[in-house]
Amino acid sequence: MEAANFLAGNLRLRVTVKALQTFTAYRQKRFYNREAGGQLFGTVRSGKWTVLEATGPRKGDRRTRFGFWPDRASEQQEINAFHVRGLTYLGDWHTHPEEQPRPSPRDLATIAGIVRESRHQLPGFLLCIVGRAQFPAGLWLSIHTLSGEIKKAEAALPLASAETNP
Ligand SMILES: [Zn+2]
Repeated sequence: MEAANFLAGNLRLRVTVKALQTFTAYRQKRFYNREAGGQLFGTVRSGKWTVLEATGPRKGDRRTRFGFWPDRASEQQEINAFHVRGLTYLGDWHTHPEEQPRPSPRDLATIAGIVRESRHQLPGFLLCIVGRAQFPAGLWLSIHTLSGEIKKAEAALPLASAETNP
C-alpha cells in the first residue's frame, strides 16, 4: 500500500499508509459489518496537511450498519493525547456500506457543527468517508470551512519524493 495524495483547492492532503491501514481494517465488506470511525490527526504546514494517524472505533461509540455516533468524551481525550505528541486534530472519518461513499446530509451537518464549535486555528476540518472500493475511488475526502464552503479533495499525484516524506 502507498500513501494517498489529494488536492482540495490549493491545499495538498496526504494520507499516510498507517492511516489507510486503519481505514482498510474497518471497511464494511460484509452486509453485517457496522459503521466504524474515529478521528484524524497529523501535521499542518502551509499548503499541506498530512494525516499521520486515524484513531479507531472506541467502546463508548454507538455503531449500526447505517450510523456511527462517536463517544465525544473519548474523542476529547484523544485530542489531548495527540496534542502532547505535537499532532493536530484534522477531522473525522467513518465507514459507509457503499462502494464509492458520499456524505449524508447528517454527515455534512455534523462536520459543519464541529467546525463551528471547536476552538482552532485551522481554516476548516476534514471529513473522510471510507467506502468498499479500493482507494482512492473508495475514499471520500473533503474540507469544510468556517464560512460553510465544502471543497472535495481529488486524488493527485505525489509531490517530488523529497517533499513527500513521510
Ligand atoms: Zn456517514
